[in-house]
Amino acid sequence: MRSHLLNDTTAEQYRRSVTEGVERVAAKLATTDRPFTGVTVDALSPRIDGIDLDKPLHDTAAVLDELEDVYLRDAVYFHHPRYLAHLNCPVVIPAVLGEAVLSAVNSSLDTWDQSAGGTLIERKLIDWTCARIGLGPAADGVFTSGGTQSNLQALLLAREEAKPGRAGWEEGGSLADLRIFASEVSHFSVKKSAKLLGLGPDAVVSVPVDRDKRMQTVALARELERCARDGLVPMAVVATGGTTDFGSIDPLPEIAGLCEQYGVWMHVDAAYGCGLLASLKYRHRIDGIERADSVTVDYHKSFFQPVSSSAVLVRDAATLRHATYHAEYLNPRRMVQERIPNQVDKSLQTTRRFDALKLWMTLRVMGADGIGELFDEVCDLAAEGWKLLAADPRFDVVVEPSLSTLVFRHIPADVTDPAEIDRANLYARKALFASGDAVVAGTKVAGRHYLKFTLLNPETTTADIAAVLDLIAGHAEQYLGDSLDRAS
Ligand SMILES: *Cc1c(COP(=O)(O)O)cnc(C)c1O
Repeated sequence: MRSHLLNDTTAEQYRRSVTEGVERVAAKLATTDRPFTGVTVDALSPRIDGIDLDKPLHDTAAVLDELEDVYLRDAVYFHHPRYLAHLNCPVVIPAVLGEAVLSAVNSSLDTWDQSAGGTLIERKLIDWTCARIGLGPAADGVFTSGGTQSNLQALLLAREEAKPGRAGWEEGGSLADLRIFASEVSHFSVKKSAKLLGLGPDAVVSVPVDRDKRMQTVALARELERCARDGLVPMAVVATGGTTDFGSIDPLPEIAGLCEQYGVWMHVDAAYGCGLLASLKYRHRIDGIERADSVTVDYHKSFFQPVSSSAVLVRDAATLRHATYHAEYLNPRRMVQERIPNQVDKSLQTTRRFDALKLWMTLRVMGADGIGELFDEVCDLAAEGWKLLAADPRFDVVVEPSLSTLVFRHIPADVTDPAEIDRANLYARKALFASGDAVVAGTKVAGRHYLKFTLLNPETTTADIAAVLDLIAGHAEQYLGDSLDRAS
């Protein structure tokens, strides 16, 4: 069994084995003609259930054959131009190369003595991101597993910063008094974080959005005022820099002004919109982000990086101390005096992947402009898609995109019952998924079912969008026809 350990004597086997896997995936990419096969849970489960994990095959080629059957054949392929569903991007090759390197070397980024150069590379990328945002000279941050963890950590810091400055906190201050303000279309990780942070059930105040799905700052001001009047403690305002559903960007400068006025921590959740930081054409759309106290970025959404690659950035490095704990066996306090950089001092995780290497390889091969160009292309594509939808009487489209998302629904010519229209759209999404011809997402707008394209693939064309819209209309019409037949 030692022959399976990666070391000096097995380097040749490592090369062969990994190359075999790469060959399979490359062959798959070359021949995939649809984003999905439409396989059902019922069809796939028995194939996986039927495998006895206590009977290994002892042969890489045989295991790869088996993998074809249980995974590769029926996986959902984000690189396909008709995968238009969630915030998943096709990945860039330098990042995939980085992934291969980082898992083989297997550095752990918690301490200097488990990573050396890895730690310095991560820190340089954090500094680079902070500079792109414009967070100022005291900024810092750390890579995380994703936007959910970044939001949790940012809100942890905000909670700790909200407490001491408040008169009377020590006598009777209660976590139940803390309030977070986020728009009604903010990410659900804000609510999850509030729960994990021990806040009360009413902690997250939902601020209404305008027609463009941007937080109404007048309403935010009203809620902040009410909070003060009720003797509660405003802990943070979460501004979303690209909502998951609509790509809408909250008015960051106005929100920053209110945060200053009320002395509230401003967090910008730019998990999606962070691609604008590299944009050559649309950087201004996220102006105001430089006034944040903390920022979430998901490189695995708009920087074309493989999952996971994400970071939380803060204006004031000192606030990261709220996540610092020392262990004698890992990062004893004296190491801080010795100026040994241990990233675990800033992280919620301990053992942690060197995800930063993927971004490093990307920036070194393509440069930030290369990423920005790709993101600009999908933003332009969304603008074209919006024009198609707005001109097409078969569809109702919700907001003109600020990023690369389109939310719309099919409106059949002679159906007026909104519930029936809901059912037709739900059916169309399911039928499309089952066909595997394209994958689209869905959401609700004002209580009604809508469909969603999240466009993150520069290879997708307006012709693809038009073709998928035709498929959707076809499935919806089919449903309505069948439903008429059922009724008669
Ligand atoms: C995707 C997303 C998140 C969560 O990020 P994960 O990487 O999926 O954990 C948070 N906020 C917004 C706005 C998002 O779009």
